[in-house]
Amino acid sequence: MTDKNCLACDRPIKGRTDKKFCDDSCRNNYNNHMNCYTSPLVRNVNNILKRNRKILEDLLAPYDKKVLVIERQKLVERGFQFDYITEHYHPDKKEHYYYCYDYGYRPIDQEKVLAVKDTRKKHSSRERSRR
Ligand SMILES: [Zn+2]
Repeated sequence: MTDKNCLACDRPIKGRTDKKFCDDSCRNNYNNHMNCYTSPLVRNVNNILKRNRKILEDLLAPYDKKVLVIERQKLVERGFQFDYITEHYHPDKKEHYYYCYDYGYRPIDQEKVLAVKDTRKKHSSRERSRR
């Protein structure tokens, strides 16, 4: 029987041979490390999505509105990346919404989009209907 080493600290593991770590703290260390190690791309995409969301939020916030017509160029200037969305929502054939979490936009024409705060509240309504 070969001794297995802990994936985190590389010390031999005593006891059951199906174990990968000596204890929970080693497992946590390993998982945390793996998250940092494997996710630069994921983190990068998340950051883009969060920035997109923030840009829309910042634009809407001063007006205290749920919707706001805005020039595409204004979004681009702030670093908005139109390719990155969390959701594509089209309630009918004409309307296409592109969401970054709870904020999104709807293209109006080549120059303008409609920035929107998501008011569908689908998650909470779904939870409510579960009762
Ligand atoms: Zn260990």
